[in-house]
Amino acid sequence: MRVLIVEDEQRIANALCRMMESCKYACDVVYDGLDGYLYAESDIYDLIILDIMLPRMDGIEIAKQLRAKKIKTPILMLTAKSETEDKVKGLDSGADDYMTKPFSKEELLARVRALTRRKGEVILDELRYDDLVLNLSSYTLSKDEKTVRLGLKEFEILKILMSNPKRVTQKEDLIIKVWGYDSDAEDNNVEVYISFLRKKLSFLNSKVVISTARKIGYYLEVSP
Ligand code: CA
Repeated sequence: MRVLIVEDEQRIANALCRMMESCKYACDVVYDGLDGYLYAESDIYDLIILDIMLPRMDGIEIAKQLRAKKIKTPILMLTAKSETEDKVKGLDSGADDYMTKPFSKEELLARVRALTRRKGEVILDELRYDDLVLNLSSYTLSKDEKTVRLGLKEFEILKILMSNPKRVTQKEDLIIKVWGYDSDAEDNNVEVYISFLRKKLSFLNSKVVISTARKIGYYLEVSP
């Protein structure tokens, strides 16, 4: 899960990011409204935590424009005081929930959990593809009785591949989704983790292989 935090008070933004990371959510932080909008528009996030008062573009405007562009990422809006007017405006603009500063870690995490389990969506605890089962809460990969634990990046990469098994996933998409929008990760970072995953698949004796679409990316195949 990847969270975008848009908050110009760096102390709060960084604290939010640490809270998210302590729960294994990956996060990107931006301190400016316009940057926040541009990051959010990439539509790679599972959640956006959005302050209202921001330089260059305020949170209300960001939410409105994202919704106008049909970007449906859940938005948790931060309000400075418990001002009813802000809350109403925030929710009207397309935010899904709001939280008043200061807030506790427990409150934040409860809201994040609620928002990332969207209405009507089935909560999946595992992903299956052919003989493989990827457990989404224990980060383990199993085939029959054999199980291996995956590192966070291995897990995120395989989850993306197993979610769209027959489609080629571009290396660039993997870098953005797993390492973040402005990371320095390069193609060979992805290749390293793909080779770790291939070793784990062969350890499990799975029929599933990670195939390479030359110069594009990867997809899953079932060997006969
Ligand atoms: Ca602010």
